[in-house]
Amino acid sequence: MEDNLIWCRSEILRQSKAMVPVLSPMAQFGLNVFEGIRAYWNMSESQLYAFRLDEHLRRLMDSCRLIRIEPPHQPAEITRFFRDTIKANDFRCDTAIRMTVFGDGEGTWNSSEPVSMFIAPIARERTSIAGLQGKAACVSSWERISDNVMPPRIKVGANYINGRYAHLQAQRDGYDLPIFLGRDRKVSEGAGACLFMVRGGTLITPSLTSSVLESITRATIIEMARASGLVVEERSVDRTELYLADELFLCGSAAEITPITSVDRFILGNGEPGVITVGLLEEYHAIASGIDPRFPEWRTPIY
Ligand code: PMP
Repeated sequence: MEDNLIWCRSEILRQSKAMVPVLSPMAQFGLNVFEGIRAYWNMSESQLYAFRLDEHLRRLMDSCRLIRIEPPHQPAEITRFFRDTIKANDFRCDTAIRMTVFGDGEGTWNSSEPVSMFIAPIARERTSIAGLQGKAACVSSWERISDNVMPPRIKVGANYINGRYAHLQAQRDGYDLPIFLGRDRKVSEGAGACLFMVRGGTLITPSLTSSVLESITRATIIEMARASGLVVEERSVDRTELYLADELFLCGSAAEITPITSVDRFILGNGEPGVITVGLLEEYHAIASGIDPRFPEWRTPIY
């Protein structure tokens, strides 16, 4: 593991030196909210662009609000720390950044303070389009958490244990990954990514009231696709629609776009990543890295 420089409790230090107390609400109860962000290296401009940083910071604030913790810093300040941390590492390559606000010190699941924060970047290449492989998914028998139980809308560390049950079960059963149904038995999302399908040339994704994270990549893909003239529907999705889809993919800041080529062993299309899926991934990389100049408001330059 690389021992990168991270920003933790207002200090830049080696990751191996950053510690969390064993009796903290973070360590015992998963009391944290976080963001996973990518930054894309643009070789011709010698620039690194953080993708949709403002939207990630807005969601981080929403997550704090909903779990009733006071964010230790505001977005403008965090943007400065974010830049300083990446610059301290002198990353001039694709980078993935974890940004976490957590219950620090000693306390329990209902503690509200002390609250601390870290920002941890690692060098991480974007998905290789040449090596893109379709994944085999199953519809999980585990149910997605729901708004009145553990709201999936926000990014809380403890929410991921729901994803863990489904993911490990799917792998034990011989699949690559699970797709969750919600309380209403309609399709929600993957264990750590949102879902889109293509049917008859239309791009369809479960609505934001389908027990999904308010995903930034989901919003990006909807906007990108509409700008290219694709019809996009946000609505509730039945399980059997997955089996009949021409194309299917998961999306997220870390995963970018992951093609799914079978669901419960129903082969989708010709069993290869679909042309719309691959086209969207190419467009996503071009926009995120600034090779495609559209949507400049989505890119925050680091240098
Ligand atoms: N759903 C879940 C459960 C996730 O963990 C993620 C990854 N953050 C996503 C969807 C995609 O969200 P985003 O596009 O904001 O990264």
